[in-house]
Amino acid sequence: MTSTVLVFLDPAHPDGRIEDASRPQLFATDLGATRGDGVFETLLVMDGHVRKLPAHLRRLASSARLLELEVPEHEAWERAVVTALDEYQRTVGPLQEVVVKLVATRGVEGAHAATCWVAASAPAPAAKRQREEGVDVVLLDRGYDSDLGERAPWLLLGAKTLSYAVNMAALRYAHAHGADDVIFTSSDGKVLEGPTSTVLVAHAERAPGADDAGQVAFKRLVTPQLDSGILPGTSQGALFAAAKDAGWELGYGPLEPQDLFDADAVWLISSVRLLTPVNRIDGKPVGTDPELAKALTAELAALFDRIA
Ligand code: PLP
Repeated sequence: MTSTVLVFLDPAHPDGRIEDASRPQLFATDLGATRGDGVFETLLVMDGHVRKLPAHLRRLASSARLLELEVPEHEAWERAVVTALDEYQRTVGPLQEVVVKLVATRGVEGAHAATCWVAASAPAPAAKRQREEGVDVVLLDRGYDSDLGERAPWLLLGAKTLSYAVNMAALRYAHAHGADDVIFTSSDGKVLEGPTSTVLVAHAERAPGADDAGQVAFKRLVTPQLDSGILPGTSQGALFAAAKDAGWELGYGPLEPQDLFDADAVWLISSVRLLTPVNRIDGKPVGTDPELAKALTAELAALFDRIA
């Protein structure tokens, strides 16, 4: 018995084909399994609402284009998501917080047809705890420079491919060294991204004479350049749009490790983790005004919560 709901996209079943996730469902010759050749998206359902589905479908299509992989149109994914969530509600529980994964592999060797499915499951408990308590991170070298993505499109640096073994290895390395997460840096010394998240940095100044950290005269939110070989985050994109309307100045890198240490607050953000404060980087505390950092986190978290 598993609490994961599985729905395969299948031309013979326009709304998707429900399968038992506790039974084997993939061929051992599927190129997703043997080569990590495919793309995926992970998104969050909160209180019955699928957050940022159009942005995730656009990124899935753009990743698939970079891999020259033909995947079903948006409507087929949307129908499969509805089927998966109906089934989840029926067999697992309410749609309070559900993680939905969309996967498309290059398919079974020789079949020339993508294998595509939607999986719905409960989030890992660590995500919620980290959102509330924050994380300690280590800076790890990704081993290539921030211009490589443009020079070497075959490396698929802007695509969300199934080849996440390196990202998972980096997380294990961080855990083995007493940290919760990682911020990757490039060989030319730029801040890139986390293994499963986007980096955000804030600079702010309290209003003159303000005793409430929420009263700020100036607030600026910066993320690494989107063309520096990182995955453009749907969360970062949505939060930047909301922050702009709320009076934040916005910037796109380049960021260097010293900018992280000089910041008033640093976060990792992703669809499932949401906005997670970074408490320490390589053992050094981030920011010098914890009340200000808390106020900035509260403001951005509230903006991000309201995003559809
Ligand atoms: N960067 C990487 C490498 C990721 O894997 C993810 C999400 O999994 C992100 C950034 C954040 O993307 P999103 O905000 O769309 O979840």
